[in-house]
Amino acid sequence: MSEEEIQKMVTLLLSRATMLAQHCPDCGTVLFEQRGRIICPSCGEVEVREEGESGAAQEMGRDEEVLRRKRSELIAELEGEKDLDKVLRILEAVQRIDSILGGKG
Ligand SMILES: [Zn+2]
Repeated sequence: MSEEEIQKMVTLLLSRATMLAQHCPDCGTVLFEQRGRIICPSCGEVEVREEGESGAAQEMGRDEEVLRRKRSELIAELEGEKDLDKVLRILEAVQRIDSILGGKG
């Protein structure tokens, strides 16, 4: 990844763009969403189409992104957690997220 690309990613994040779980179909760089537009830091605005359902698929992608973010938050929490009860609850939540994400391939 070039320095220019990283710089663009930082700019996108600072302008409240969200990092997506999807990657650019052209260059493979992680994609960002900003005000409903999908942006590749390297290629600019890209058109991401899922066959069949267009609107629904986009919603699904956002849910997935939220879940992934939550998952890493939980993992980070787990690291400092000493209370076994909480540890188990966090693990259960992570497992549940994994099964939701895993179910979609
Ligand atoms: Zn690209």
